[in-house]
Amino acid sequence: MTLPGVKCTVSNCKFWQQGERCNASAIEVNVDGGSSNAHASDQTNCHTFAPK
Ligand code: SF4
Repeated sequence: MTLPGVKCTVSNCKFWQQGERCNASAIEVNVDGGSSNAHASDQTNCHTFAPK
């Protein structure tokens, strides 16, 4: 079961599945540096990531 609506290209994550899908039960996304305000998408990232 993959997360509907989530597209991910991080293919070395243990939750990643073929077709740019994520099979984690939920994901946590944070701002780089610990702030709660991002100014651009490249300042955010998935903290559920775990290497394969
Ligand atoms: S946990 Fe995050 S990095 Fe890993 S596949 Fe899901 S969305 Fe991508």
